[in-house]
Amino acid sequence: MKRKRIAIILGLVMLLGTVFAMVALAQKSIVDNHPELKPVVDFVGEKNLSVLHLLGFKASTVAMKRLPFSKGDPNVLAFTDSGYIAKIGDYTTERALDGVMMSTGASRGKGNLVNVHKPYNASLWFAFFHKRTKDCIYLEAKSDLLKIYLDREKTERDVVLRDFMKLKDREIFAKIAKENIDANKLLSSPESWQKKMVARVFGGNEFSLFTIANLWAMGLPNDFLKVAELHDHICPGLTSGYLIAEYLKKNLPSFAPRYEYTIIAIPPWCKDDALIQIFETNVGHKRLFVKWLTKEQRKRLPKKAKNVANIVIRWEKGAKKGDGIVVAFDWDKAFKGSGTKGTDLRAFDTYRWWWMRLKMDLWMMDYLNKPEELVTTIKKFSVSSPAEIEKLKAAGVNPLVELGIMPGP
Ligand SMILES: [Zn+2]
Repeated sequence: MKRKRIAIILGLVMLLGTVFAMVALAQKSIVDNHPELKPVVDFVGEKNLSVLHLLGFKASTVAMKRLPFSKGDPNVLAFTDSGYIAKIGDYTTERALDGVMMSTGASRGKGNLVNVHKPYNASLWFAFFHKRTKDCIYLEAKSDLLKIYLDREKTERDVVLRDFMKLKDREIFAKIAKENIDANKLLSSPESWQKKMVARVFGGNEFSLFTIANLWAMGLPNDFLKVAELHDHICPGLTSGYLIAEYLKKNLPSFAPRYEYTIIAIPPWCKDDALIQIFETNVGHKRLFVKWLTKEQRKRLPKKAKNVANIVIRWEKGAKKGDGIVVAFDWDKAFKGSGTKGTDLRAFDTYRWWWMRLKMDLWMMDYLNKPEELVTTIKKFSVSSPAEIEKLKAAGVNPLVELGIMPGP
């Protein structure tokens, strides 16, 4: 009897022990020690939590403290290259993007999240810009450290996450910099900003950040923001592409540009990234063909075609006919109107290269809804067979000669 009682008591003790252990385990949620992580943990689920989520959280926390701003502030634009192509070793980085979204409340839907396209081996960075103060804070992650933590995360995740939370900001980020990037200030005292450009205060992303941020503050449309994400910055060349797209929507409309348009970029410049993004006329879809014009060829262009930009053909399969248009962008008018000089475009040894681009960027914002003020038609033509389009895009053919716009050699 006694033995049986002891066995029952022992059994009860063991059961209680198990229950206590389970309760203790359940309480071991990282949120118990770090309640500030709750939004991230709720969104991704604790079992999926990664060092990369914590990185996005840490970057956001520093920014919210130092910019400053509170969660959900629509006046703050968040930038990051995480979650696009940039990698840490073999690890893709999209989880850091979720960390930023859940911590700051910035999102695509609110139009205050820019996911910048950078190559796979770019450094991982975050930036936050305040619309009212025009202050911008930039944080660049230490890739080597992250890689070590991500490797460890595979085998001892719980410990690694807690260790990571203990790290100081300076241990996680190679660079934390706050600067005022108000366009008016940059334009009125360019020498002092030039020093910061040379010093790469934002890790070489200065031009990208101050162009996108200032134009966003002016009310950049969301489709333009997507164009800027692909192109990495906003320059007058990119805006000219946005305007050409708007012009084509009016003058050569298509319900299915990817299937109907053939675009020849002659010559190519930043504009063509805008066309790819807006019309889905990618090179890989065989919808964009790129042809360079040599100096000698440029000299042979007649005056009206001096600023030639694109040949666009819309082929209507059902109707078995097509219409083409050759468009130009009026750079002379844009330089004059914005008070800039084309010769400054390549003044890379002074502030003038970025100064003139920023000045033009601001000026061109007024023309987003009136593309016909800057985009012109050089020629309209029609085609009656796909073979005619084939000829224009073929290797070794100068389509401008073919269309009678410029003389052959
Ligand atoms: Zn550009």
